[in-house]
Order: sequence, then structure tokens, then C-alpha cells
Amino acid sequence: MKDEPLPRSLNFLKLRLEKRESTGLLRERKIIQSAQQPACIVDEKERINFSSNDYLGLANNNQAKKKLAESAKKYGFGSAASHLICGHQLPHENLEKQLAKFVERDAAISFSSGYMANLAILQSLPQKGDLIIADKLNHASLIDGVKLSDANSMRYPHCDLHLLEKRLKNAGQNKFVVTDSVFSMDGDIAPLKEISDLCLKYNAILIVDDAHGFGVLGKNGRGCAEYFNLNQKQLPILMSTLGKALGGYGAFVSGKKILIDYLMQFARSYIYTTAMPAAIASANLANLTALEKDNKKLRLLAENIAYFKTESDVKKIPLLKTDTAIQPLVVGDVNRLEKINQFIFDKGFLVGAIRPPTVAKNSARLRITLSASHTKKQIKQLVFVLSEAFDRIKD
Ligand SMILES: *Cc1c(COP(=O)(O)O)cnc(C)c1O
Repeated sequence: MKDEPLPRSLNFLKLRLEKRESTGLLRERKIIQSAQQPACIVDEKERINFSSNDYLGLANNNQAKKKLAESAKKYGFGSAASHLICGHQLPHENLEKQLAKFVERDAAISFSSGYMANLAILQSLPQKGDLIIADKLNHASLIDGVKLSDANSMRYPHCDLHLLEKRLKNAGQNKFVVTDSVFSMDGDIAPLKEISDLCLKYNAILIVDDAHGFGVLGKNGRGCAEYFNLNQKQLPILMSTLGKALGGYGAFVSGKKILIDYLMQFARSYIYTTAMPAAIASANLANLTALEKDNKKLRLLAENIAYFKTESDVKKIPLLKTDTAIQPLVVGDVNRLEKINQFIFDKGFLVGAIRPPTVAKNSARLRITLSASHTKKQIKQLVFVLSEAFDRIKD
């Protein structure tokens, strides 16, 4: 097989891959040989993971693992069909009810992933002739959702309220404003109260992607709506994911019951796909219950973020300014990023290395994420290694 020449029609694959490699932008997967927890095994060696979205350390929660096994015993593995055919089992129903209650919304509908939930919202709600106004740094799934939509679209500079208002003022049609709550690559929080006020003023519908807010923002981890104290009228379409702070898998959209009824009928990425396995729904519910019962993990996460920032400050590490669990460190040049990342890895740490096109050209960065389950010692060691890497590797 190996020596077979590539047919000419497939030559573009080779060319595009070679170009990616020669510009230092090729990405590689690491094989994690253990459960997801701060001390994980990569290349047979223990590394401390600062690149995961498991902000509360729930991905390896014993209660969730137990529920997963019990539920699989009772409901089986596969869900056998889409929700609207016969894939909607009792655990899905229970999960949706509990999620809606937790985020203080009337109803919720679950999806297999946040990517699909965002496609669902943007493909089904804005109609031909409507206008979608989107933050320039929105997550790729929102960008793809806009592409799927029949509506017109425009972007506004990142979190720029003045230019958002200008676009709203000039738009005649039905309008939707779409934004992340916590931006995934910068870790900053959108000014949702002001955005919501503008939406109410200009009669636009606000859609918020709370992937990095759900489970961590707000006193009880209910997410951006709790953090900004925004009710269902102020924030009518809320998308939250279960794969990050909740340590599970899947996503949900919450809001008025009529919104949920509508998505169920018209969202193609809901209708034409197999339901998540019921056991996954049960395990998600177990982690939600863990979060509801005790917010000790939330306090630990906040402590760890503050500790990381203080230690970095002492070592003069130029972090972007944010108080969320996402702490980016812009390096700029991809080759330097690669060298720094390798140095950190060799010292036994995993951090995210984010390259264009995920972020803008010349803004390649380390993306450090903190978790409630990191120890202070692990954080202190990481800061030491980061500082060493930045001192030694200058280009
Ligand atoms: C991760 C992420 C998603 C996608 O969620 P998945 O459940 O992983 O598909 C959507 N939006 C944002 C901002 C994200 O960070």
C-alpha cells in the first residue's frame, strides 16, 4: 500500500499538508494513557496537565463512573436512534429537566455536543432576510453555524459595544446577536449585561455560548446568566456544554419552552443524529448533582486561578488579563511557541499550544487552563518552568 503512487486527483491533500508542516502549523495528537486528571500519563511518563477543560476535576469523578456503569446495565450502550424516533430514554429526559432547573430556565434540550447545539441554533432560528451580528472572536462552531444559516451576517470587533450598537441601529430586519460568554482562546468575559441591554433596546435576540462559563461562573456555577444576573428575557437563548466544567459529554440549549419546542422540530443537527447514549446522560446528571450539592470545587478553582496569577506576576510572566480558568500567554511566533512548548513538555507539563488559524496570525500562544484539582505545588512548579522557558528561548 505504502508505495502506491498518489492519484493526481488527490495531490492537493499532499500539497496542503506539506504547506501546513513547512509553516510550523501542523498539529499532532498526544496519546493520553490514563484517565483525565492533573497527573496523566503521556509517552509512558507522568505529566501534569494544564491543557484540559476539566475545570472542576469531574471528568474522573467516581460517582459519575458508578452511574455510567449502572445506567449502562439498565439502559444498554447504544441509544439506537435519534431522539425523535426512539432514542430519547428516561435518563435524557431527567437530565434535561435537571439542567433547566439548574440554569433557572423554563426548559432545556440536550445535544450530543456543543458544536451541534450551536449549528442547531443558528441554522434553525435566523431566517432568510434576518441579520446575525457576531463577535469577531466567536468560537468556530458559531462561525460554522452562521455559514449554515440562510440569514445575512456581519461581525463586530471583539466586545466592541459601540460598534455593536452602530450595527444594531443600522439594521432593519429581525436581528440576532451572537457571542461567547468566556472566549475560548483569550479567556476574557463578554460584557453580557451591556450586550443584553443593547439587544433589548434594538429588539434583537441574544444568543450566548456559555461553554466555558457553565459550571464555573456565578456563585453556584450556574454560568454566565448567574454571574451577570440575567433572566430569561435578558438572555433568551443560552447554550451550555457538558464536556468542560461538568467533566462529561454533550450540551444543551435552554430558554422558554416554545424555543425548545421549536428546536426539536426544526434543528437539523438535533433531528438527524443518534441520541447520546443514555448512560452518558446519567453520568452527566451525576456530575451535575455533585456540583449542586457542594461548591467547594468552585472555591478551589478560584483559589488556584488567583494563586497562578500571583505566582506569574512575581516571575513577570506576561499573561493576558483575565480571572477565568483560561490563562493565555501570547508568544507570537509559531517556531518559538513550538520550542517553548517542547521545553515545558520535557519538564513534565502539558499546556495547550494554540496556533493560527485558531488564533490570529502572529498571536500563537500557550493556553494554560487551571482546574480545582491542581495542587498549589503543581501550579508553582509550572510557573517556574514557564519562566525558565521564556528566559531561555528567545526566538
Ligand atoms: C468547546 C466549545 C464548543 C463546542 O462544544 P463541544 O461540546 O466540545 O462540541 C462550543 N463553543 C465554545 C466556546 C467552546 O469552547
